[in-house]
Amino acid sequence: MSADIDNNVKTGYLGHCQICGSKDLQLVLDCGHQPLCDSLVPGSRLTEPEQYFPLRQFRCPNCTNNQLDYIVDGSTVYHPEYPYRTGVTRELAAYQFLIADELTARYGAVLPDVARAVQEEVTSALATMCAVEVDGVDVFVEEIT
Ligand SMILES: [Zn+2]
Repeated sequence: MSADIDNNVKTGYLGHCQICGSKDLQLVLDCGHQPLCDSLVPGSRLTEPEQYFPLRQFRCPNCTNNQLDYIVDGSTVYHPEYPYRTGVTRELAAYQFLIADELTARYGAVLPDVARAVQEEVTSALATMCAVEVDGVDVFVEEIT
């Protein structure tokens, strides 16, 4: 991976791999133009036009990353009425503590520390890259056998 690759992609079409920078991308799936998911239109705006964006999945043969080739601005995706907030419910926080306790009992303190570090990094990335403020994110840890 080259050190000069800009991973903070701009809104619009993306003609290179976000991981390795390769421009050799293979089309996997073309879903045409689609509205944003999770942006349910209220009844008061059903007669207004809806925004559509290209939805195409590409694979990078160089590093195997899969990505979309069109980046929608974070403030458009996570608009003020966006209905879903991850990691902000009391039940989810209780679940995360339970999982951390179970992992600590099973593997020691290493995996919960890694999960906590991932949670902090993802929360920070959401804030800096997507302008989304969250209290935390859920991390799934799977045992590889
Ligand atoms: Zn790549």
